[in-house]
Amino acid sequence: MVAGHFATSLVAKRLVPAGHLAFYLVIAQLPDVLWHVFHFAGLEPTGPANPMEASLDNMHAHMTYSHDLLPTVGWMVLAVAIGRALFGVWKPGLAGAALIVVHGLCDALSGHPHFVFGPDTAQIGLGLYGTAPYVALALEAVFTLAVMAWVIVRDTREGVRRSRATLAVWAAVFGGGILSMVPIADLSLVELTGIAPIEAMSGTLVPGLVVMYASMVAALLWAGARPTTRVGEPTVETPS
Ligand SMILES: [Zn+2]
Repeated sequence: MVAGHFATSLVAKRLVPAGHLAFYLVIAQLPDVLWHVFHFAGLEPTGPANPMEASLDNMHAHMTYSHDLLPTVGWMVLAVAIGRALFGVWKPGLAGAALIVVHGLCDALSGHPHFVFGPDTAQIGLGLYGTAPYVALALEAVFTLAVMAWVIVRDTREGVRRSRATLAVWAAVFGGGILSMVPIADLSLVELTGIAPIEAMSGTLVPGLVVMYASMVAALLWAGARPTTRVGEPTVETPS
């Protein structure tokens, strides 16, 4: 799951507005950010090296340190500490720890298999990316729709009107983020098009993912900073 994780940060921002949206966006994806870092550090090597040969069901990485159950407890403590340091109160960090729990539950539902601590220990989650990637994407779509419905119902109840630009970015990031995975669910670009893998692209799988995640964060931050209006009030509010 990628887009669905980002969606959960909007819920945290609504429930605990003392934390900045940027904090929630990064913490909701902290396990994946750590995975990217650990890939480059050689701890969680990810393949296939050439993104042209990658599909959801053939991507592989033992995300022992970034995603397994025992280290996750440590990442939750880190989220609480960073939240406290940044905002001077406990609540945003505690919300961040909750986001990490939700990240783990979502990956268990729709993602790669994770373990208690290492592949020799008990598996946690369905591992649907490898066995049924279309089902994994459908589950992510249902989850993301439910989360966004919660945000929109909450907005409506409180009379908050988002700008059209915000709604368009949400649709592009969440809808586009999931739909763009469908063609490569069980077929790589090489299999889809029949063209030979370009050698120069070897090693760019994880850098490409980093760019994708960063672009999604940038778009959602921009959307979150669009002014909102309140029903019945002419004043325009700029969210923090
Ligand atoms: Zn993850």
